[in-house]
Amino acid sequence: MHEWALAEAIINAASEIADKERLKEITKVTIRVGELQMIEPEILKFALSQTKTEKFKRAKFELKTEKARLKCRKCGHVWFFTTKNIEENELEAIHFVPEIAHTYVKCPMCGSPDFEIEEGRGIVLQTVKGVRHA
Ligand SMILES: [Zn+2]
Repeated sequence: MHEWALAEAIINAASEIADKERLKEITKVTIRVGELQMIEPEILKFALSQTKTEKFKRAKFELKTEKARLKCRKCGHVWFFTTKNIEENELEAIHFVPEIAHTYVKCPMCGSPDFEIEEGRGIVLQTVKGVRHA
């Protein structure tokens, strides 16, 4: 679903970087996808291959998953989100709306449900590599 809109945004952003860097051709694009983002990597890759322009003809798209890092607001404990002990339908809900995670996830140190998601919810265009104009 939103993989297509995302693919378009990624291609646009990568094209802008390529223009700025005076790249005539893009060879590799690395994208970091937060674990709490409801993204199917295969669909995103397919959408990218369909959305890409001439400049991306030979480009490889690399998707890296970023672990969800949570920080307790009460005791400051930092931990990584794990899907262990969470029912599958709850997991769907978390992926769809990361805020819902507060209902299911608690700090393993003090048990507080009050935490921040420090990492793992965004999409980051990490690197764009290409061939410069002579
Ligand atoms: Zn805590």
